[in-house]
Amino acid sequence: MKKAAFYTLGCKVNQYETEAMEELFRNAGYEIVPFSEASDVYVINTCSVTSMGDSKSRRMIRRARKNNHEAVIAVTGCYAQTAPEEVLAVEGVNLVIGNQGRKDIVAKVEALNGYDKINDVYDIMQTREFEELNITHYEHRTRAFIKIQDGCSQFCSYCIIPYARGPVRSRREQDIIAEIQELAKNGYTEFILTGIHVAAYGHDLECTSLAQLINSIDKLEGVKRIRLSSIEPMTLNRKFIDDISSAEKLCPHFHVALQSGCDATLKRMNRHYTTAQFKDIVDGLREAFHDAAITTDIMTGFPGETDEEFTETENFVKEIGFADAHVFQYSKRNGTPAAKRKEQIDPKVKEARSKRIIEITQKSRNDFLNIHLGQTSEVLFEQRVNDGYFEGKTANYITVQVKTNEELHGQYRNVKLMDVKDNIMYGELA
Ligand code: SF4
Repeated sequence: MKKAAFYTLGCKVNQYETEAMEELFRNAGYEIVPFSEASDVYVINTCSVTSMGDSKSRRMIRRARKNNHEAVIAVTGCYAQTAPEEVLAVEGVNLVIGNQGRKDIVAKVEALNGYDKINDVYDIMQTREFEELNITHYEHRTRAFIKIQDGCSQFCSYCIIPYARGPVRSRREQDIIAEIQELAKNGYTEFILTGIHVAAYGHDLECTSLAQLINSIDKLEGVKRIRLSSIEPMTLNRKFIDDISSAEKLCPHFHVALQSGCDATLKRMNRHYTTAQFKDIVDGLREAFHDAAITTDIMTGFPGETDEEFTETENFVKEIGFADAHVFQYSKRNGTPAAKRKEQIDPKVKEARSKRIIEITQKSRNDFLNIHLGQTSEVLFEQRVNDGYFEGKTANYITVQVKTNEELHGQYRNVKLMDVKDNIMYGELA
Protein backbone atom coordinates (compact mmCIF):
# COMPACT_ATOMS: atom_id res chain seq x y z
CA MET A 1 0.00 0.00 0.00
CA LYS A 2 1.35 3.42 -0.92
CA LYS A 3 2.00 5.86 1.92
CA ALA A 4 1.19 9.56 2.26
CA ALA A 5 2.26 11.94 5.02
CA PHE A 6 1.03 15.43 5.82
CA TYR A 7 2.34 18.44 7.70
CA THR A 8 0.08 21.42 8.47
CA LEU A 9 1.09 24.92 9.49
CA GLY A 10 -1.26 27.72 10.48
CA CYS A 11 -4.97 28.11 11.10
CA LYS A 12 -8.04 25.92 11.57
CA VAL A 13 -8.88 26.31 7.86
CA ASN A 14 -5.53 24.76 6.95
CA GLN A 15 -6.16 21.95 9.45
CA TYR A 16 -9.57 21.32 7.91
CA GLU A 17 -8.11 21.26 4.39
CA THR A 18 -5.36 18.84 5.39
CA GLU A 19 -7.91 16.51 6.99
CA ALA A 20 -9.93 16.64 3.72
CA MET A 21 -6.83 15.93 1.59
CA GLU A 22 -5.91 13.01 3.90
CA GLU A 23 -9.39 11.62 3.32
CA LEU A 24 -8.91 11.92 -0.49
CA PHE A 25 -5.64 9.92 -0.28
CA ARG A 26 -7.15 7.36 2.10
CA ASN A 27 -10.10 6.88 -0.31
CA ALA A 28 -7.54 6.38 -3.09
CA GLY A 29 -6.00 3.50 -1.11
CA TYR A 30 -3.09 5.27 0.56
CA GLU A 31 -2.00 4.62 4.15
CA ILE A 32 -1.62 7.88 6.05
CA VAL A 33 1.62 7.76 8.05
CA PRO A 34 3.25 10.24 10.49
CA PHE A 35 5.32 12.94 8.80
CA SER A 36 8.49 11.69 10.53
CA GLU A 37 8.23 8.33 8.75
CA ALA A 38 9.41 7.37 5.26
CA SER A 39 6.55 7.92 2.82
CA ASP A 40 5.89 7.85 -0.95
CA VAL A 41 4.15 11.24 -0.90
CA TYR A 42 4.58 14.25 1.40
CA VAL A 43 2.07 17.11 1.43
CA ILE A 44 3.01 20.30 3.30
CA ASN A 45 0.11 22.70 3.87
CA THR A 46 1.82 26.05 4.41
CA CYS A 47 1.03 29.30 6.25
CA SER A 48 2.19 32.79 5.37
CA VAL A 49 0.61 34.95 8.07
CA THR A 50 4.15 35.89 9.24
CA SER A 51 7.60 35.51 7.67
CA MET A 52 8.17 32.80 10.31
CA GLY A 53 5.45 30.80 8.53
CA ASP A 54 7.40 30.93 5.27
CA SER A 55 10.71 29.85 6.83
CA LYS A 56 9.08 27.05 8.84
CA SER A 57 7.36 25.81 5.66
CA ARG A 58 10.74 25.60 3.89
CA ARG A 59 12.19 23.71 6.87
CA MET A 60 9.41 21.09 6.69
CA ILE A 61 9.97 20.67 2.94
CA ARG A 62 13.66 19.92 3.57
CA ARG A 63 12.68 17.51 6.36
CA ALA A 64 10.41 15.59 3.96
CA ARG A 65 13.17 15.36 1.35
CA LYS A 66 15.51 14.01 4.02
CA ASN A 67 12.93 11.41 5.11
CA ASN A 68 12.75 9.97 1.59
CA HIS A 69 14.78 11.16 -1.41
CA GLU A 70 12.50 9.30 -3.84
CA ALA A 71 9.24 10.71 -2.53
CA VAL A 72 6.95 13.10 -4.38
CA ILE A 73 6.65 16.41 -2.47
CA ALA A 74 3.58 18.61 -2.93
CA VAL A 75 3.26 22.01 -1.27
CA THR A 76 -0.05 23.82 -0.84
CA GLY A 77 -1.52 26.63 1.28
CA CYS A 78 -0.89 30.37 1.64
CA TYR A 79 2.91 30.46 1.19
CA ALA A 80 2.53 28.32 -1.96
CA GLN A 81 -0.20 30.65 -3.22
CA THR A 82 1.71 33.90 -2.61
CA ALA A 83 5.24 32.76 -3.61
CA PRO A 84 4.94 29.69 -5.92
CA GLU A 85 8.28 30.15 -7.72
CA GLU A 86 10.10 30.64 -4.39
CA VAL A 87 8.55 27.40 -3.09
CA LEU A 88 9.25 25.49 -6.31
CA ALA A 89 12.90 26.56 -6.04
CA VAL A 90 13.28 24.75 -2.72
CA GLU A 91 15.22 21.58 -3.45
CA GLY A 92 12.98 18.53 -3.71
CA VAL A 93 9.63 20.22 -4.37
CA ASN A 94 7.74 18.56 -7.25
CA LEU A 95 4.34 20.22 -7.17
CA VAL A 96 3.07 23.58 -5.91
CA ILE A 97 -0.70 23.92 -5.56
CA GLY A 98 -2.14 27.17 -4.19
CA ASN A 99 -5.37 27.57 -2.24
CA GLN A 100 -7.51 25.98 -4.92
CA GLY A 101 -7.43 22.77 -6.98
CA ARG A 102 -6.74 20.56 -3.91
CA LYS A 103 -9.72 18.31 -4.63
CA ASP A 104 -7.73 16.85 -7.55
CA ILE A 105 -4.50 16.56 -5.55
CA VAL A 106 -4.31 12.74 -5.73
CA ALA A 107 -4.48 12.69 -9.55
CA LYS A 108 -2.00 15.58 -9.79
CA VAL A 109 0.47 13.78 -7.49
CA GLU A 110 0.08 10.44 -9.29
CA ALA A 111 0.89 12.14 -12.62
CA LEU A 112 4.31 13.14 -11.25
CA ASN A 113 7.71 11.51 -10.86
CA GLY A 114 10.36 12.52 -8.33
CA TYR A 115 12.07 14.88 -10.79
CA ASP A 116 9.10 16.93 -12.01
CA LYS A 117 8.69 20.57 -10.95
CA ILE A 118 5.11 21.71 -11.57
CA ASN A 119 3.69 25.15 -10.69
CA ASP A 120 -0.06 24.56 -10.51
CA VAL A 121 -0.90 27.92 -8.86
CA TYR A 122 -3.56 30.20 -10.39
CA ASP A 123 -4.54 33.82 -9.75
CA ILE A 124 -6.74 33.42 -6.66
CA MET A 125 -8.07 36.97 -6.98
CA GLN A 126 -10.09 35.76 -10.00
CA THR A 127 -11.72 32.94 -8.02
CA ARG A 128 -15.45 33.18 -7.28
CA GLU A 129 -16.22 29.49 -6.55
CA PHE A 130 -15.93 27.93 -3.09
CA GLU A 131 -13.83 24.77 -3.47
CA GLU A 132 -15.87 21.94 -1.94
CA LEU A 133 -13.67 19.61 0.09
CA ASN A 134 -15.51 17.16 2.31
CA ILE A 135 -14.80 15.40 5.59
CA THR A 136 -16.76 12.44 6.93
CA HIS A 137 -14.40 11.50 9.71
CA TYR A 138 -11.63 13.01 11.82
CA GLU A 139 -8.66 10.79 12.69
CA HIS A 140 -7.75 12.32 16.04
CA ARG A 141 -10.50 14.71 17.02
CA THR A 142 -13.59 14.78 19.25
CA ARG A 143 -14.77 18.10 17.93
CA ALA A 144 -15.29 18.66 14.20
CA PHE A 145 -14.11 21.72 12.27
CA ILE A 146 -16.51 22.74 9.50
CA LYS A 147 -15.12 25.10 6.84
CA ILE A 148 -18.01 27.39 5.84
CA GLN A 149 -16.25 30.05 3.77
CA ASP A 150 -12.95 31.04 2.21
CA GLY A 151 -11.27 34.33 1.35
CA CYS A 152 -11.39 37.85 2.74
CA SER A 153 -11.96 41.25 1.14
CA GLN A 154 -11.18 43.45 4.14
CA PHE A 155 -7.54 44.21 3.27
CA CYS A 156 -6.37 45.16 6.75
CA SER A 157 -3.17 47.03 5.97
CA TYR A 158 -0.85 44.54 7.76
CA CYS A 159 -2.44 41.34 6.43
CA ILE A 160 -1.30 39.10 3.57
CA ILE A 161 -4.34 36.80 3.76
CA PRO A 162 -6.57 38.49 1.15
CA TYR A 163 -3.73 38.05 -1.39
CA ALA A 164 -3.32 34.37 -0.39
CA ARG A 165 -6.97 33.40 -0.07
CA GLY A 166 -8.73 35.69 -2.58
CA PRO A 167 -12.19 37.24 -2.27
CA VAL A 168 -14.94 35.96 0.07
CA ARG A 169 -16.51 32.71 -1.16
CA SER A 170 -19.21 31.11 0.92
CA ARG A 171 -20.07 27.42 0.91
CA ARG A 172 -23.65 26.47 0.08
CA GLU A 173 -25.75 26.00 3.23
CA GLN A 174 -27.00 22.57 2.08
CA ASP A 175 -23.41 21.31 1.67
CA ILE A 176 -22.53 22.46 5.19
CA ILE A 177 -25.66 20.82 6.62
CA ALA A 178 -24.96 17.58 4.72
CA GLU A 179 -21.38 17.41 6.08
CA ILE A 180 -22.55 18.05 9.65
CA GLN A 181 -25.30 15.39 9.37
CA GLU A 182 -22.74 12.87 8.05
CA LEU A 183 -20.31 13.66 10.89
CA ALA A 184 -23.14 13.54 13.46
CA LYS A 185 -24.01 10.05 12.16
CA ASN A 186 -20.33 9.17 12.80
CA GLY A 187 -20.63 10.28 16.41
CA TYR A 188 -19.50 13.92 16.37
CA THR A 189 -21.59 16.30 18.47
CA GLU A 190 -19.59 19.57 18.60
CA PHE A 191 -19.07 21.55 15.39
CA ILE A 192 -16.70 24.52 15.03
CA LEU A 193 -17.68 26.80 12.15
CA THR A 194 -14.43 28.04 10.67
CA GLY A 195 -13.21 30.10 7.73
CA ILE A 196 -10.93 32.97 6.83
CA HIS A 197 -13.54 35.66 7.55
CA VAL A 198 -16.42 33.74 9.14
CA ALA A 199 -18.53 36.83 9.84
CA ALA A 200 -18.61 37.49 6.06
CA TYR A 201 -20.37 34.16 5.47
CA GLY A 202 -23.18 34.57 2.94
CA HIS A 203 -22.20 38.07 1.79
CA ASP A 204 -21.62 36.64 -1.71
CA LEU A 205 -24.76 34.49 -1.63
CA GLU A 206 -28.26 35.99 -1.73
CA CYS A 207 -30.03 33.31 0.23
CA THR A 208 -28.18 32.95 3.51
CA SER A 209 -26.16 34.60 6.28
CA LEU A 210 -24.09 33.48 9.27
CA ALA A 211 -27.07 33.98 11.61
CA GLN A 212 -29.37 31.96 9.34
CA LEU A 213 -26.77 29.19 9.04
CA ILE A 214 -26.33 28.99 12.83
CA ASN A 215 -30.10 28.74 13.32
CA SER A 216 -30.35 25.99 10.68
CA ILE A 217 -27.59 23.94 12.33
CA ASP A 218 -29.25 24.52 15.72
CA LYS A 219 -32.24 22.45 14.53
CA LEU A 220 -30.17 19.46 13.45
CA GLU A 221 -30.40 16.15 15.29
CA GLY A 222 -27.17 14.88 16.80
CA VAL A 223 -25.72 18.41 17.12
CA LYS A 224 -25.04 19.26 20.76
CA ARG A 225 -22.71 22.24 20.45
CA ILE A 226 -22.11 24.83 17.74
CA ARG A 227 -18.94 26.87 18.15
CA LEU A 228 -17.75 29.89 16.17
CA SER A 229 -14.02 30.14 15.48
CA SER A 230 -12.52 33.63 15.27
CA ILE A 231 -14.93 36.36 14.05
CA GLU A 232 -14.03 39.84 12.80
CA PRO A 233 -15.96 42.74 14.39
CA MET A 234 -16.39 44.74 11.15
CA THR A 235 -19.66 43.03 10.25
CA LEU A 236 -21.00 42.25 13.73
CA ASN A 237 -23.83 44.32 15.22
CA ARG A 238 -26.78 44.11 17.65
CA LYS A 239 -29.09 42.74 14.92
CA PHE A 240 -26.71 39.81 14.33
CA ILE A 241 -26.59 39.18 18.09
CA ASP A 242 -30.41 39.25 18.31
CA ASP A 243 -30.66 36.86 15.37
CA ILE A 244 -28.37 34.26 16.97
CA SER A 245 -29.46 34.71 20.60
CA SER A 246 -32.15 32.00 20.42
CA ALA A 247 -29.76 29.33 19.08
CA GLU A 248 -29.71 27.05 22.14
CA LYS A 249 -26.72 24.96 21.01
CA LEU A 250 -24.50 27.95 20.22
CA CYS A 251 -21.61 27.98 22.70
CA PRO A 252 -21.23 31.26 24.65
CA HIS A 253 -17.64 31.76 23.52
CA PHE A 254 -16.87 34.51 21.02
CA HIS A 255 -13.34 35.16 19.76
CA VAL A 256 -13.66 38.68 18.36
CA ALA A 257 -10.37 40.07 16.99
CA LEU A 258 -9.74 43.57 18.39
CA GLN A 259 -6.11 44.04 17.27
CA SER A 260 -5.90 47.56 18.76
CA GLY A 261 -7.80 49.49 21.44
CA CYS A 262 -6.96 52.84 19.86
CA ASP A 263 -9.16 54.33 17.11
CA ALA A 264 -6.25 56.10 15.40
CA THR A 265 -4.28 52.84 15.18
CA LEU A 266 -7.36 50.96 13.92
CA LYS A 267 -7.72 53.56 11.17
CA ARG A 268 -4.10 53.02 10.02
CA MET A 269 -4.75 49.27 10.15
CA ASN A 270 -7.68 49.85 7.76
CA ARG A 271 -9.98 48.08 10.24
CA HIS A 272 -13.44 49.58 9.90
CA TYR A 273 -14.82 49.84 13.42
CA THR A 274 -14.21 52.01 16.47
CA THR A 275 -13.51 50.97 20.04
CA ALA A 276 -17.00 52.24 20.93
CA GLN A 277 -18.54 49.90 18.34
CA PHE A 278 -16.37 47.02 19.58
CA LYS A 279 -17.50 47.69 23.18
CA ASP A 280 -21.13 47.71 22.06
CA ILE A 281 -20.71 44.30 20.39
CA VAL A 282 -19.11 42.88 23.55
CA ASP A 283 -21.87 44.33 25.74
CA GLY A 284 -24.47 42.88 23.38
CA LEU A 285 -22.91 39.41 23.47
CA ARG A 286 -22.66 39.50 27.28
CA GLU A 287 -26.31 40.57 27.58
CA ALA A 288 -27.54 37.91 25.14
CA PHE A 289 -25.37 34.97 26.30
CA HIS A 290 -25.15 34.03 29.96
CA ASP A 291 -21.58 33.39 31.09
CA ALA A 292 -20.17 34.42 27.71
CA ALA A 293 -16.40 34.19 27.28
CA ILE A 294 -15.09 37.01 25.08
CA THR A 295 -11.58 36.30 23.84
CA THR A 296 -9.53 38.22 21.29
CA ASP A 297 -6.39 38.91 19.24
CA ILE A 298 -4.26 41.99 20.01
CA MET A 299 -1.35 43.27 17.94
CA THR A 300 1.31 45.49 19.49
CA GLY A 301 3.81 47.72 17.72
CA PHE A 302 1.82 48.52 14.58
CA PRO A 303 3.76 51.15 12.58
CA GLY A 304 3.28 54.62 14.04
CA GLU A 305 1.87 53.34 17.38
CA THR A 306 2.89 56.09 19.82
CA ASP A 307 3.16 55.68 23.62
CA GLU A 308 -0.11 57.60 23.94
CA GLU A 309 -1.86 55.32 21.43
CA PHE A 310 -0.54 52.27 23.25
CA THR A 311 -1.83 53.62 26.55
CA GLU A 312 -5.29 53.87 24.96
CA THR A 313 -5.02 50.20 24.00
CA GLU A 314 -3.92 49.23 27.52
CA ASN A 315 -6.88 51.07 29.07
CA PHE A 316 -9.38 49.66 26.58
CA VAL A 317 -8.17 46.08 27.09
CA LYS A 318 -8.48 46.55 30.86
CA GLU A 319 -12.01 47.99 30.42
CA ILE A 320 -13.26 45.03 28.35
CA GLY A 321 -11.75 42.36 30.65
CA PHE A 322 -11.20 39.56 28.12
CA ALA A 323 -11.50 35.92 29.18
CA ASP A 324 -8.29 35.31 27.20
CA ALA A 325 -6.22 36.88 24.43
CA HIS A 326 -3.66 35.97 21.77
CA VAL A 327 -1.07 38.74 21.74
CA PHE A 328 1.07 39.24 18.63
CA GLN A 329 3.82 41.69 17.76
CA TYR A 330 3.36 43.41 14.40
CA SER A 331 5.22 41.40 11.74
CA LYS A 332 6.18 43.16 8.51
CA ARG A 333 4.74 41.32 5.47
CA ASN A 334 6.11 42.38 2.12
CA GLY A 335 3.32 43.20 -0.28
CA THR A 336 1.13 44.79 2.42
CA PRO A 337 0.59 48.58 2.73
CA ALA A 338 1.77 48.63 6.37
CA ALA A 339 5.16 47.21 5.34
CA LYS A 340 5.81 50.39 3.34
CA ARG A 341 5.16 52.67 6.34
CA LYS A 342 8.26 54.54 7.51
CA GLU A 343 7.36 54.66 11.19
CA GLN A 344 8.21 50.99 12.01
CA ILE A 345 8.45 50.33 15.77
CA ASP A 346 11.66 49.22 17.54
CA PRO A 347 11.46 45.44 18.24
CA LYS A 348 12.30 46.04 21.94
CA VAL A 349 9.34 48.41 22.24
CA LYS A 350 7.08 45.85 20.49
CA GLU A 351 8.28 43.18 22.90
CA ALA A 352 7.70 45.38 25.97
CA ARG A 353 4.21 46.33 24.80
CA SER A 354 3.16 42.74 24.15
CA LYS A 355 4.49 41.77 27.59
CA ARG A 356 2.33 44.53 29.10
CA ILE A 357 -0.82 43.37 27.27
CA ILE A 358 -0.13 39.76 28.27
CA GLU A 359 0.06 40.87 31.92
CA ILE A 360 -3.30 42.65 31.67
CA THR A 361 -5.06 39.81 29.83
CA GLN A 362 -3.55 37.18 32.13
CA LYS A 363 -5.14 38.98 35.08
CA SER A 364 -8.56 39.23 33.39
CA ARG A 365 -8.26 35.54 32.44
CA ASN A 366 -7.70 34.59 36.07
CA ASP A 367 -10.62 36.79 37.10
CA PHE A 368 -12.81 35.00 34.53
CA LEU A 369 -11.74 31.54 35.73
CA ASN A 370 -12.12 32.44 39.42
CA ILE A 371 -15.73 33.53 38.88
CA HIS A 372 -16.50 29.91 37.97
CA LEU A 373 -14.97 28.28 41.05
CA GLY A 374 -17.55 26.21 42.91
CA GLN A 375 -19.90 26.06 39.90
CA THR A 376 -20.86 22.80 38.13
CA SER A 377 -20.37 22.91 34.35
CA GLU A 378 -20.86 20.41 31.54
CA VAL A 379 -17.55 19.40 29.95
CA LEU A 380 -16.97 17.62 26.64
CA PHE A 381 -13.96 15.40 27.37
CA GLU A 382 -11.36 15.00 24.62
CA GLN A 383 -8.14 13.37 25.79
CA ARG A 384 -6.19 11.82 28.62
CA VAL A 385 -3.34 14.13 29.65
CA ASN A 386 -0.62 13.68 32.24
CA ASP A 387 -0.67 11.18 35.12
CA GLY A 388 -4.29 10.14 35.31
CA TYR A 389 -6.06 13.34 34.30
CA PHE A 390 -8.67 13.64 31.54
CA GLU A 391 -9.16 17.00 29.78
CA GLY A 392 -12.06 18.70 28.04
CA LYS A 393 -13.78 22.04 27.49
CA THR A 394 -16.86 23.73 28.89
CA ALA A 395 -19.27 25.42 26.46
CA ASN A 396 -17.63 28.78 27.26
CA TYR A 397 -14.22 27.33 26.39
CA ILE A 398 -12.70 26.76 29.83
CA THR A 399 -10.15 23.94 29.73
CA VAL A 400 -10.97 21.54 32.57
CA GLN A 401 -9.04 18.55 33.91
CA VAL A 402 -10.35 15.86 36.27
CA LYS A 403 -8.41 13.06 37.92
CA THR A 404 -10.08 9.78 36.86
CA ASN A 405 -9.39 6.26 35.61
CA GLU A 406 -12.58 6.34 33.56
CA GLU A 407 -12.27 6.53 29.76
CA LEU A 408 -14.12 9.81 29.11
CA HIS A 409 -13.21 10.39 25.43
CA GLY A 410 -16.13 12.12 23.63
CA GLN A 411 -18.33 12.12 26.78
CA TYR A 412 -20.26 15.07 28.24
CA ARG A 413 -20.04 15.03 32.04
CA ASN A 414 -20.90 17.54 34.74
CA VAL A 415 -17.87 18.71 36.67
CA LYS A 416 -17.65 20.66 39.95
CA LEU A 417 -15.02 23.34 39.26
CA MET A 418 -12.63 23.44 42.22
CA ASP A 419 -9.27 25.01 41.54
CA VAL A 420 -7.29 27.03 38.98
CA LYS A 421 -3.60 26.42 38.30
CA ASP A 422 -1.60 27.65 35.27
CA ASN A 423 -4.70 28.61 33.29
CA ILE A 424 -6.24 25.16 33.78
CA MET A 425 -9.38 24.56 35.78
CA TYR A 426 -9.32 21.42 37.95
CA GLY A 427 -12.52 19.78 39.02
CA GLU A 428 -14.32 16.65 40.18
CA LEU A 429 -16.87 14.62 38.27
CA ALA A 430 -20.26 15.62 39.75
S1 SF4 B 1 -10.16 40.53 8.26
FE1 SF4 B 1 -8.19 41.56 8.11
S2 SF4 B 1 -6.86 40.37 9.46
FE2 SF4 B 1 -8.62 39.09 9.01
S3 SF4 B 1 -8.00 37.84 7.25
FE3 SF4 B 1 -9.09 39.66 6.50
S4 SF4 B 1 -7.50 41.14 6.03
FE4 SF4 B 1 -6.60 39.58 7.36
